[in-house]
Amino acid sequence: MSEIYTKVLIIGSGPAGYTAAIYAARASLEPVIVTGLEAGGQLMITTDVENYPGFADVIQGPWLMEQMRLQAGHVGSKIIQDQIIYADFSKRPFICHGEGGTIYKAETIIICTGAQAKWLGLESEMKFRGFGVSGCATCDGFFFRGKEVAVIGGGNTAVEEALYMTNHASKVTLVHRRDKLKAEKILQTRLFKDPKINVIWNHVLEEVLGKEDPLAVTGVRLKDTQTGVTQDLPVEGVFVAIGHVPNTEIFKGKLKLDAEGYIIGSPTTTETSVKGVFAAGDVRDKVYRQAVTAAGMGCMGALDATSFLQDEGIN
Ligand code: FAD
Ligand code: NAP
Repeated sequence: MSEIYTKVLIIGSGPAGYTAAIYAARASLEPVIVTGLEAGGQLMITTDVENYPGFADVIQGPWLMEQMRLQAGHVGSKIIQDQIIYADFSKRPFICHGEGGTIYKAETIIICTGAQAKWLGLESEMKFRGFGVSGCATCDGFFFRGKEVAVIGGGNTAVEEALYMTNHASKVTLVHRRDKLKAEKILQTRLFKDPKINVIWNHVLEEVLGKEDPLAVTGVRLKDTQTGVTQDLPVEGVFVAIGHVPNTEIFKGKLKLDAEGYIIGSPTTTETSVKGVFAAGDVRDKVYRQAVTAAGMGCMGALDATSFLQDEGIN
């Protein structure tokens, strides 16, 4: 069993984690960053990124994250592929256990564990996950070449997934529970202009329909939110894009979380309910949830950790 001691442990390697690492490394704190199972975070499962400042041309999410990883490494961060499965914040140095058996001891921790896709919680959705039901069009879209698919949701993710699926599917139906989308106007304009996309308003997914042997989706049963009337739509793929939940399971009982599981702390810094433990990015932010805001908070986390260490006389 190996043990790693560090002044700054960063948990998570999305835009928040890598930015925290870049700033902490440049403050000569030799941070250790534990990547988690999804090294690079949520942008690894998208394609075009058009709103990260500094790039006049469209860039790719995985490319951006690779650049951040390289930058964090070049300035002196130690990047470790591991998943934190246990955390003890009761005294310093704080202790975290990695899935591979490594014990991490840290004077400060910056939690950047982000968020992951939410599911509707339907039995049929679970049954057909991986057999026609997916939470990621860019990962699985290819399997639906020439087929008809449905996308559930009305936010940026749902609209982007619908637009992306037009590259593969013959027809895309976006199903939204209200009569207005939550997605940005620029995405809405693209959606409404696309001849391959149809929108069904005021409907929710009631059941995924399918067949056994081999398991495969054959349609969706949709319910009108106003009349309660149901209709079946034949599709071979269903993409659920209804938002995200924060990755805070291992911090329950260790830090203050709100009812949805987001880390609660100071509104103006990255402090949490435990002194010396900071949190940045989507794991604490349910309002903005953008790569650039996560990166900004990662920077704040590193600066807050630096001040904390200075105040504690640890340099
Ligand atoms: P994440 O990117 O969620 O990263 C979390 C990290 O924590 C991961 O590396 C994960 O492996 C790690 N982790 C989790 N649990 C543990 C653990 N127990 N131990 C160790 N590590 C752990 N935003 C934009 O600004 N522009 C876009 O175009 C855009 N497109 C998007 C497209 C899609 C499909 C999605 C889903 C999101 C998109 N976003 C976009 C939002 C953006 O990706 C997020 O706001 C941003 O990635 C949040 O960064 P983060 O660092 O807080 O967390
Ligand atoms: P989101 O903004 O929270 O939107 C979730 C959507 O799903 C909403 O339209 C919501 O409906 C719907 N929904 C939620 N629960 C539902 C349920 N049980 N049944 C049916 N519909 C349900 O989530 P997101 O689209 O994943 O985006 C998350 C964050 O990432 C956002 O901050 C977004 O801006 C960001 N992001 C940005 C980009 C980009 O900048 N290009 C791309 C992707 C994501 P209501 O509208 O009725 O609430």
